[in-house]
Amino acid sequence: MDNKIKITRITEGCFLQKGFDNGPFKGCFNAKCGEDQKGDACCRYGCDVDKESYDLMMINREIVEAAIGQPLSLAFKGRWFGTSKEEYLGGEAIRSRTRKEDGFCVFHSKNSKGCTLVKLVLDRGISKRIIPTICRIYPLAYHNNKLGTYDEILKVPIEKGCNCISEENKTTESLFIGQKNEIEDIFEIKLKETKKKVKINSFNNNR
Ligand code: SF4
Ligand code: SF4
Repeated sequence: MDNKIKITRITEGCFLQKGFDNGPFKGCFNAKCGEDQKGDACCRYGCDVDKESYDLMMINREIVEAAIGQPLSLAFKGRWFGTSKEEYLGGEAIRSRTRKEDGFCVFHSKNSKGCTLVKLVLDRGISKRIIPTICRIYPLAYHNNKLGTYDEILKVPIEKGCNCISEENKTTESLFIGQKNEIEDIFEIKLKETKKKVKINSFNNNR
């Protein structure tokens, strides 16, 4: 895909913070994250849905609506937004709603773990871009063309017990290496200092 979000700075935290035990998404399924240790902690607020993710939901509307058990027209709140300092795939974004019953994002699987959009990608072969960018890269985040860990960029702690910070996590990979397929698909990295395009494989965990 050609449209990507430009990154000109990457923080050290991306290389110092461990990634997920079993890679993105799968590492979440057994994580006891959140204050209540019930998991799926980062799905309890709703999320910014990139326009491109929204468009893919519309293309796969019947499947998505069946998965979330409600019409897509009810799944979003507020207006489309975008700022001069922020880029989204497709140019703008809209906030997903949370459910009244349990407070989770409307795309979270009701009565079970995980995100329905992730399941549709894994089970139905739908493009990964149907998953909002921020959900694909968590606990990485970006702002003003800078990529870093969530706490560095947004000054909000990574969710308690997130697989990447849990004591049981045995991976030796950094977040940057563990998430590299997502990063490569979403971002165009052209560091300010060097003006050169960065080949992600050229980074390693010792950096
Ligand atoms: S908080 Fe971490 S482990 Fe829990 S669902 Fe989110 S990314 Fe996965
Ligand atoms: S879209 Fe999926 S991964 Fe993102 S917050 Fe909602 S349920 Fe969680």
